[in-house]
Amino acid sequence: AKPRFETADPATGTPGRSYEGHSRDEALAVARSVRAAFAAWRAMPIGERARLMREAARVLRRRQAEFAELMTAEMGKLLADGRGEVEKCAFNCDYFAEHAEAFLRPRPVDLDGPKAFVTFNPIGTVLAVMPWNFPFWQVFRFAAPTLMAGNTAVLKHASNVPGCALAIESVFREAGFPDDVFRTLLVPSADVKSLIDDASIAAVTLTGSVEAGRQVAAAAGAALKKSVLELGGSDAYLILEDADIAQAARVCAAARMVNGGQSCIAGKRFVAVRPVREAFERALAAEMATYVMGDPRDPVTKLGPMESVKARDRIHDQVRRSVERGARLLTGGTVPDRPGAWYPPTVLAGVRPGMAVYDEEVFGPVAAVVEAEDEADAIRIANGARFGLGSGVLTRDPARGERIAAEMLEAGLSFVNGNVRSDPRLPFGGIKESGYGRECSEFGIREFVNIKSVVVH
Ligand code: NDP
Repeated sequence: AKPRFETADPATGTPGRSYEGHSRDEALAVARSVRAAFAAWRAMPIGERARLMREAARVLRRRQAEFAELMTAEMGKLLADGRGEVEKCAFNCDYFAEHAEAFLRPRPVDLDGPKAFVTFNPIGTVLAVMPWNFPFWQVFRFAAPTLMAGNTAVLKHASNVPGCALAIESVFREAGFPDDVFRTLLVPSADVKSLIDDASIAAVTLTGSVEAGRQVAAAAGAALKKSVLELGGSDAYLILEDADIAQAARVCAAARMVNGGQSCIAGKRFVAVRPVREAFERALAAEMATYVMGDPRDPVTKLGPMESVKARDRIHDQVRRSVERGARLLTGGTVPDRPGAWYPPTVLAGVRPGMAVYDEEVFGPVAAVVEAEDEADAIRIANGARFGLGSGVLTRDPARGERIAAEMLEAGLSFVNGNVRSDPRLPFGGIKESGYGRECSEFGIREFVNIKSVVVH
């Protein structure tokens, strides 16, 4: 049976389009065609692959407005953010087109005699299971390095963004990539395991929730296939007593409000030391309230709808449960009386362990302020989370900030006096329950290659 995928406009609740998906057998047949395309693709000179990847960047830029509108219609992203996201994808394609050859160049090794070197060979077809929050970026972040390395790829995108999933496939087609080097499968998550088990798939990468990560990792483990997991986060930002409070509030609000708060690397817990806690929470509440909620297509809007009403209801439930346990609501916290998936910027203070907004990942515009005794206590609170993705430090002393960021915080990314952002030039990924493996940069392109030792006597 063929699944169907229905979209809905999160801003209004209005039904969108309906897409017919692939049956499980069709999906497996596509995956096998993509595996069959591997031999010719890996044999293509890397300069030729780079030329096609630059062409993909041009297609993205040419169709930027169309793709931004598609993201807004399917998952409610601000139109301006969608344009930025498409440009970032194009930059990423250009980046790997330019640098992949150097990243993958064989490395000589001196063995005092025989010739020896290390090669970075492609491994086959990589399956990507991707989320809806950055529907283009999440996919290009994986696809550009993976394809440049000589692998072919299949995409299983989130069920609420089928239009984006098909549009991404069309970018590679329009750019002139050979047939079946990159294909989109419209399948439910229940079909992912049969794909991982199939001989056509060499490895899998997933960005999404911890629960999805556990299941995909278990399937990959059972099949002894490599996996990379980029899961959730509960990023902490430390506000130290020497921080510029106005700047800290701006940075923390920006960290929390990226993509309406629906980002793995959004700031979620703001750990302020006692002497500045009160001033900081007041400044943060004022700053958060400037995120004007409204039509995602209106350029003055700074907060659009959540991805779905279901997601909004989950966020509100986390806020409600935290208030019941004694969290103080400084702003927001009420569900607007209108159709669509709306939730206002919200700040909770007095947040402690045992409250939902402390213990769970909150995927929406809800900032939690936690008080710490001092620097050491703030670091302990930050590192106490199950997660370890991003983190931040706010201080007027850059050396102090650098020491804490580099040595003390248990996270894959630590930023001083700025909010965490992904960048193709920097490795991206987490530790603990935030997952394993890295995307982006030369570390990312090495995840799905065979690092091979060659010795010639
Ligand atoms: P999911 O983890 O459920 O979805 C992410 C992707 O994984 C989708 O393609 C989904 O497909 C797929 N998937 C889900 N379950 C499985 C499974 N058991 N086996 C294989 N694939 C699976 O995220 P949600 O959209 O449901 O969001 C829930 C929470 O996850 C959020 O509130 C947030 O906390 C976290 N999240 C984190 C993201 C990040 O960037 N790190 C991104 C998105 C969510 P399908 O859509 O068909 O279910």
